[in-house]
Amino acid sequence: MQKADLIIIGGGPGGYETAAEAAASGLVVILFEKGHLGGTCLNRGCIPTKCLCAGAEILETIRNSTRFGIKASATASYASAVERAAEVISELRGGIADMLGTVKVINAEARLAEGPRVIADGEEYTAQRIIIATGSCPAPLRGIAPSLYHSSDDFLSLTELPRRITVVGGGVIGLEMASVAAAYGSDVTVLEFCKEILPGMDTDIAKRLRNALGKRGISIVTDARVTGIDADSTVRYTKKDKEFTVESDYVLAAVGRRAVLPDGCADAGIAVNERGFIATDDRFRTSANGVYAIGDVNGKCMLAHAASAQGRCVLGKTVNLDVVPSVVFTIPECAFVKRAIDCETRTIKLPYASNGKALASGQDGLLKLECEAESGILTSCSVLGPHAADLVAEAALAISRKLTARELCESIHAHPTLSELLQTAASALCR
Ligand code: NAD
Repeated sequence: MQKADLIIIGGGPGGYETAAEAAASGLVVILFEKGHLGGTCLNRGCIPTKCLCAGAEILETIRNSTRFGIKASATASYASAVERAAEVISELRGGIADMLGTVKVINAEARLAEGPRVIADGEEYTAQRIIIATGSCPAPLRGIAPSLYHSSDDFLSLTELPRRITVVGGGVIGLEMASVAAAYGSDVTVLEFCKEILPGMDTDIAKRLRNALGKRGISIVTDARVTGIDADSTVRYTKKDKEFTVESDYVLAAVGRRAVLPDGCADAGIAVNERGFIATDDRFRTSANGVYAIGDVNGKCMLAHAASAQGRCVLGKTVNLDVVPSVVFTIPECAFVKRAIDCETRTIKLPYASNGKALASGQDGLLKLECEAESGILTSCSVLGPHAADLVAEAALAISRKLTARELCESIHAHPTLSELLQTAASALCR
């Protein structure tokens, strides 16, 4: 039996960042990873998507360059963009290995057993704390044979884009991939089950994003119930009880993700909730003593940065888990941050057109800032437009520190920058 202070199963952002931080503080750490370090985020998610998104943005910039007096055209090679993504992934994987320092990385599939113990390649391991960080995988499209559609993992391994793509699911993954594919020349249709895309996000921003993607030629149908997919990739769906079809060459299903549970959870006494995720309390403790679950596998907040933050929480660090920014890397980008409230609020909507830097750069968008009606304490910020993610970062800090709109606008913002949008919005909330 090999012993450590901390065992982590899963080498995604939750697992490797927690392992590195624990090792840096002097703990003996063993990290099990059955595939490549970096998990979904690095190998099949955020990073390859962002690489492709970067190329898509360049293409869109070139297409919109005439208003700057530039006459340019572009010939895009999707295969080269995918090759570049592979290079970026490989470089970042090396960075993770360096960052892990004294962590003992075991490249094997680990399973849990009574004790709790961890078993891999016939060896047994135990530790004071075991963290499960095994992530998630694409959820299936219910009622449809898996051979008739593809997952986001499949999509990211394409080296050539199909001419006509139907995306089932207008959530984060579906829209990011639709945005990339449309920029590289595919005809894209998105079928979303709910009344608006990005359910759960700010509906004003979601509606504007739908319109902006529509202007880029992406056909988005909301309130659409997929009823079948034919062998030739024709997708059948109903909307308001009427039947429709979309002819396509490739169907991508992006309808959510489900937990990847390590084998032996039940033997180790680890309970799973009704949604199939590992049940945890607010400190990520599972029902088994000394065993924690962080990241997608607990289903609380399926974002890479939330997984790492949960890991820091398990290590006893102070982390504000109530305010987690999220970003959708479409063109245009959108970003959100909010904290839970149960009081009246005031909201200001500010178009990018009111900002000198945005106008000079030809950037369009909208920033929404909200505060508690009485106290003026900031509660949420939603942005659609270039650099939305960066704008929301400042708002996230202000919201997590419970700053008022007045305090935010007391801080000087450089001119001319997009950050002034936030200051202007905060100032309007003070009036
Ligand atoms: P999601 O839950 O964000 O969106 C799934 C969408 O599919 C929803 O809009 C849902 O209404 C729709 N849907 C479900 N069943 C359907 C059906 N039968 N027909 C039509 N529409 C259907 O899930 P996702 O996009 O797969 O992403 C999974 C998770 O990964 C999310 O939690 C997301 O936040 C996370 N993620 C985040 C980022 C990022 O931060 N940029 C990127 C990728 C993934």
